Amino acid sequence: MEETLKLRSGATIGMLKKNDPDFRKYLTRTTLSQLHLQPGGDPVAFTYSPEGEDVVFYFDPLFVKEAPPEVWYGKSGESMTLPSGNVIEKMSTRRACDNGFYSKERLEQMFYRPIEEPVAYTVKADGTTVFFYDKKTALRLPMMCVKCNKKVRFKHKLCEDCYEEEMAVRREEGDRHRNAYYGMDPKKILFFDLELTGFYARDEIISITITNGLGELVMDTLVKPDHTKKWKKTEKIHGITPEMVEDAPLLVDIIPKIKEIFENCDRLIAYGVSTDYSHIKYIYDTEEEQEALHKKVRCCANEFVRYAHEHRPDVVHASLIDAMECFGIEWQGVPHSSLADTYACAAVWDRLFPNYYKKEE
Ligand SMILES: [Zn+2]
Repeated sequence: MEETLKLRSGATIGMLKKNDPDFRKYLTRTTLSQLHLQPGGDPVAFTYSPEGEDVVFYFDPLFVKEAPPEVWYGKSGESMTLPSGNVIEKMSTRRACDNGFYSKERLEQMFYRPIEEPVAYTVKADGTTVFFYDKKTALRLPMMCVKCNKKVRFKHKLCEDCYEEEMAVRREEGDRHRNAYYGMDPKKILFFDLELTGFYARDEIISITITNGLGELVMDTLVKPDHTKKWKKTEKIHGITPEMVEDAPLLVDIIPKIKEIFENCDRLIAYGVSTDYSHIKYIYDTEEEQEALHKKVRCCANEFVRYAHEHRPDVVHASLIDAMECFGIEWQGVPHSSLADTYACAAVWDRLFPNYYKKEE
């Protein structure tokens, strides 16, 4: 039998001995209850009940609180004396529940294991006695794996083995998806990146870069915003100043050219494509045209996240810089400029999909 006990709160309490001077000072639940009091916090000491492993807790009278009237009104008047000498009251399951008392089975369903002796009881219609235990003093049970129910949970409600098993299946699926032969025409695969005046929908495009699967530059231009005059916050990221775009074309001027490029491509790939798509889609007026563009769009970041999840659990961030670092790819140009980011995106895509393009004849 342990002489100390670690509580759910993290506190450790010691076993009381008969000759301990504190023995007289501390109170059990029964005494507290007779005084219409309740524990105001963790027990401060314990003993074992004469029979079995049940624990009897002792509380410091300096840290008790008055029991609310509903606890002592309407008492059943029936009680039972436990082997420890403590007296527990008969109460309905409903009332026990209101007090935070539950049967052992119910506690186990909630992943708790009672260690204290029962604090109340009820007698069922068939005459059997059901004991109630205080959830507050019960120990939290480790959560079990939802798949094998044999080992403690590790990740995603699974134990380490089951998680690894599931991961191996996913990794295989992922590898099949990435290593498949797609037979795409590199000229019709476009990578693109936009720089914007800000992070919101109302913000405007100030730079567009588009390259193809051969690494050829298809479009690389600054864009003069329609109504935004300054963008101090994003200027620090991409380095494009209002002066730099002074003589640049307006978006409306280059829309026909962009549309022509997009219409002739099979895929449009960007890193974190949803932001770029949400701005570039407005070159089209109808939802049908926007939807047609969306069908060609692929997100390199999503694919990288999936790859990292399956192969590199050590990689916890998934920015373009992280992806470049993960694959050990050198940057061409300054990160966060649309040109360098577009090349980087294409390089990461190449690593993820080594058989993306049609084979040379
Ligand atoms: Zn398992």
